[in-house]
Amino acid sequence: MLKPKPHEIRKPSKTLSGVTPLAVVLKPKACNHGICLYCPSLHVPQSYTPKSPAIMRAMMLDYNAYKQVKARLRAYSVMNHPTDKIELIIMGGTFLDYPIKYQEKFVKDCYDALNNKKSRNLSEAKKKNETAKHRCVALCIETRPDVCGKQEIQRILNYGCTRVELGVQAIDNKIYEKVKRGHTVKDVIDATKLLKDSGFKVGYHIMPGLPGMTTAKDLKMFRKLFNDQRFKPDQLKIYPCQVIRGAELEKWYWQEKYKPYNKQELKKLLIRMLKIIPNYCRVMRIMREIPPAYLIAGVINIDLRSEFEKEIRDTEGKNKIKINEIRFREIGRQKNKENIDRKVKIKITKYKASEGEEYFIEAVNKNKILFGLLRLRFPDKVFIDELKDAVIIRELHVYGKAIEIGKSGKQSQHIGIGKMLMQKAEKIVEKENNKNKQGKKFQKIAVISGVGVREYYKKLGYKLKGNYMVKRLN
Ligand code: SF4
Repeated sequence: MLKPKPHEIRKPSKTLSGVTPLAVVLKPKACNHGICLYCPSLHVPQSYTPKSPAIMRAMMLDYNAYKQVKARLRAYSVMNHPTDKIELIIMGGTFLDYPIKYQEKFVKDCYDALNNKKSRNLSEAKKKNETAKHRCVALCIETRPDVCGKQEIQRILNYGCTRVELGVQAIDNKIYEKVKRGHTVKDVIDATKLLKDSGFKVGYHIMPGLPGMTTAKDLKMFRKLFNDQRFKPDQLKIYPCQVIRGAELEKWYWQEKYKPYNKQELKKLLIRMLKIIPNYCRVMRIMREIPPAYLIAGVINIDLRSEFEKEIRDTEGKNKIKINEIRFREIGRQKNKENIDRKVKIKITKYKASEGEEYFIEAVNKNKILFGLLRLRFPDKVFIDELKDAVIIRELHVYGKAIEIGKSGKQSQHIGIGKMLMQKAEKIVEKENNKNKQGKKFQKIAVISGVGVREYYKKLGYKLKGNYMVKRLN
């Protein structure tokens, strides 16, 4: 790769959402439940192939978390991306299936690498990261819905985790049996609720085109994800089913027992899905990059999303957006950003999810272009002590190209949008309390916060209690 010029940012889309994502890969380990029908086992982390770029990088470093973080920080800085606000993403199968000692060491090594200093233990490493040069502003893990109970949630809170991606794939027990998932829809419902009532952002991995599905059934199931309050994910990764070398599904394919969707079927289905997604959900990714040498059958076009998103934008006319999902509306992803109206207003969407009340608060312009968002939850049943009598802020995100901490600019970070959203959330809680004749029902607001954002909340009057930033209400 040629070295970029002094102010040229390589692959600028990587940091358009305001933070710098940094993926770290776990060492290979088979999932405890067995192997799903479509999942390849290729002596690398379960479900991945040896030629995937992230896996190749990790293999070269012997899956050492410390070295992986250091190497990615170096690569980002060579590409001229800011590296002060890092979103750590731990990938490679079911993180919570690994021995607890391994999990803890892996997370501590990540913080140590960000801090550029080894700490004696995880708490010290987290503490140091609060004011480090490379701060962990979010930490995401992937797990199965049946490996996500109260104990696991308490543990990942201690790791500084803020987002969990659940392998959901479908919400149908018959399909689960067919593809050997080893869990049920009830596990999905329970994990979603426990996570949301503890403040986590919840992402689902969805897999259209599994054996036994048709495009009509997939679409029906997809509608249910958002019509049924027991699901309603905050984020989605949509990875259509592909036949990958080394998976049991490969045999099914050669025996003509299974055929994946073709490009036309898939494109049509994905566009219809995209139109269903409500404003509170972000589609993180569509299509999984499988190196051609490992793809036996299935759509190979990794850029399918950009292809149809361009078509949607071109046909919808100037500034009229009919797709509501978050990523499509983010300010950083708009064309002609300089000409976009920056007059921002607050929009609130209230909805029921996992038995709690969600307030999705957005800072948008008149064309629904998104500058920032906040997720406020009145939980149903909390099991974490610090959350007793609390309303929870599950996410605060200000969009725009990442700007280094301490610097300001025209972009939407650091021009007070975050503060505006926080004030609105506090007002909503105050109003709810005033409605209650017997006195204040909610005594405090608790924010699940990446370790590296704690300083920000301190300035707004929040204090660290357990793993949350908490403000008592007067
Ligand atoms: S749970 Fe995920 S990683 Fe494990 S076997 Fe199934 S698809 Fe593969």
